[in-house]
Amino acid sequence: MVRGVVQGVGFRPFVYRLALEEGLAGFIGNDTDGVTIEVEGPAERLEAFLSRLRAEAPPLARIDSVAARELPATGEAGFRIAASEVLGRVSTGIPADAATCPDCLRELLDPADRRYRYPFLNCTNCGPRFTITRRIPYDRPQTSMARFKMCADCQAEYDDPLNRRFHAQPNACWECGPRVWLAGADGAEIAAGDAVAATIGRLLAGEIVAIKGIGGFHLSVDATREAAVMRLRERKRRFGKPLAVMVRDLEAAREACALTAAEEALLTTSARPIVLARRKDGCGIADAVAPGIPWLGVYLPYAPLQHLLFAGGRVRALVMTSANLNEEPIAIDNDEARARLGTIADVFLMHDREILQRCDDSVAAVVDGAPQLIRRARGFVPLGVELPPGLQLEAPPLLAVGGHLKNVFALARGRFVYQSQHLGDLENLKGVEFFTESLDHLMRTFEIEPEAVAHDLHPGYLSTDWAKNWAAARGLTPIAVQHHHAHVAGCMAEHGLASEAIGLALDGTGYGADGRIWGGEVLVCRLDGFERFAHLDYVPMPGGEAAIREPWRMAFAALRTAGFDLEPAAALAGANEKEARVLDRMMERGVNAPLTSSLGRLFDAVAAVVLGRRAVDYEAQAAIELEGLAVDESDKLGRVDYAPELWDGKNLGMDVPLVLRTGDLWRAVVDDLRRGVKKARIAARFHSGISEAFIAAAGNAREKTGIKQVVLSGGCMHNRRLARLLRTGLEEEGFEVFQHRRVSPGDGGLSYGQAVVAAAILAKRR
Ligand SMILES: [Zn+2]
Ligand SMILES: [Zn+2]
Ligand SMILES: [Zn+2]
Repeated sequence: MVRGVVQGVGFRPFVYRLALEEGLAGFIGNDTDGVTIEVEGPAERLEAFLSRLRAEAPPLARIDSVAARELPATGEAGFRIAASEVLGRVSTGIPADAATCPDCLRELLDPADRRYRYPFLNCTNCGPRFTITRRIPYDRPQTSMARFKMCADCQAEYDDPLNRRFHAQPNACWECGPRVWLAGADGAEIAAGDAVAATIGRLLAGEIVAIKGIGGFHLSVDATREAAVMRLRERKRRFGKPLAVMVRDLEAAREACALTAAEEALLTTSARPIVLARRKDGCGIADAVAPGIPWLGVYLPYAPLQHLLFAGGRVRALVMTSANLNEEPIAIDNDEARARLGTIADVFLMHDREILQRCDDSVAAVVDGAPQLIRRARGFVPLGVELPPGLQLEAPPLLAVGGHLKNVFALARGRFVYQSQHLGDLENLKGVEFFTESLDHLMRTFEIEPEAVAHDLHPGYLSTDWAKNWAAARGLTPIAVQHHHAHVAGCMAEHGLASEAIGLALDGTGYGADGRIWGGEVLVCRLDGFERFAHLDYVPMPGGEAAIREPWRMAFAALRTAGFDLEPAAALAGANEKEARVLDRMMERGVNAPLTSSLGRLFDAVAAVVLGRRAVDYEAQAAIELEGLAVDESDKLGRVDYAPELWDGKNLGMDVPLVLRTGDLWRAVVDDLRRGVKKARIAARFHSGISEAFIAAAGNAREKTGIKQVVLSGGCMHNRRLARLLRTGLEEEGFEVFQHRRVSPGDGGLSYGQAVVAAAILAKRR
């Protein structure tokens, strides 16, 4: 019995070959939780078979466990692959999409091969999976390849257990498979001969091409041409947000970015995520691609069509950004793309293999030496994340709906949590439609009928409303999970921390148990509950949501809270007198000025003062720029006076042991600015001061509770400098430190944590 990712990844033909080579008889079949193998033969051959099973497994397979036991010999001759029906319930479901493998890439570029330049070649080791599948089992009739009848050559490959394309569901060739064509904005096909060659010409001429990919359309321009990138930004009405760049190969990625070995490994995994890496000066990529920050989101081609755009060497780097407007779901359908992108794209590179599941590119970064997911989507979904056995937690079938922005929901059952792809913001009807569409699909895929539903504590989220209605219709009682509890519990679960941990939840926005907006929290956490131990002092957000889009508001509010007079506070925040008076009045009266303890908002406020950034164009822009500013500064700054002071909560009339106040921090920032200390240094000092204060608060929590394990979570943990400073500082203090590795520390990981908390609460009730 082999468990793990062993279905739809060429595992059965691999075992078949192995058995033949070792001269063993028996069979292999798919099973509920993996595959079952029976082999018969001499003992040393069986041993060799077992060790090779692990050592030589196909690239996309992931073996979690092999359970072997002896059976009486049956005298069976030969080895066979049992019928492909899956027995009983599946837990392996549909594999994730995988980048073109080296064998297929060779064929793609080999003029002698029958699939030379065929944009849809694939095999059992690579190709689309999740995005082309309607329902389980993962077999061709259930995919969007159903309408393409295989030609005799393809069928022969498909039927031959020794062929690399044995049961490769999307198998196709020039004879029988999907095709590409170039279309104008009006939808009419442009008779261009070789559509790929024509596309290359258009891109090199600076045009914007909408290119149909694996999980949706991309909008593409030549990334080395400033004017072309600016045209795309103007048409997309998106001026600040960094755009992802696809480069020809690893060599080209090295030319664009200074890559570490860990970053190179991440770039070349079969999931092919976008990797945020340090951009090289003078690398030739247009500045407009990622203005104001020292990083570039780079990735490598993962579909044959993309490889073809780079083949021939004329194209070096392409902007490849999700084809959507604002935070709407990515376009997948040809007609939909024309309707929604007609005003943006000059031409469309279309194809007729339907995309059935929307799936954005995944985004990852190496944070503090190890990979961290920022957006978990193509290449990872729908693979489950297992709850470690040490956790001793089994989930009943349940649904966790996630949060508001960057929504991802999760289904759980037993020891597995299946997160959906990144769905975007649940702010409008389109977002909610995408949510329900994906939920239906994943419920079918994993045959999970939830018996419980978890949602965020925020009463105003669409996801909360949705969860309550959904639960009511099924007679279930929904479980509300506090935002930062979910963040911390998720990280605890990833690392098998079953009892308690000190959680640093450093975040942008999360609804607190007291109705205020939390986000700079030290929690003493169990999986099923928490106590709030410390937090950043409350600061009003004048204008509510507007204070997130306009960091100058946060700067003004924070400076006023820190005791600065109106005029200097206004000058530092970049507010005019009238604005300052309006804000002051809002704060005084508490009108539309909710209180927040968010570290994300403190970052915004400091960025507004140090960088003079009044408004942001995308979420967390100011904070990201502040981190970027400090990128070349040393971590070791000696003592800095930027640390928030730890106050006894009781003395402030608050019901937490500690409150972190930022008055001294603000005075130190302002002193340094006035003394002309360079801004990069100020940004670095701010990071150091913040981590120093939270390390001290964690030390305090340890004194009171005896807990030595600290978990780092929340959106601010995407900040590499902060993650590194906190981890090294906490370790120096003798803490054991845990960071997210398999799910995102930001709101993309929220549903995983909600599922863990709900499972723990339900386990306790039973
Ligand atoms: Zn392949
Ligand atoms: Zn064919
Ligand atoms: Zn959060």
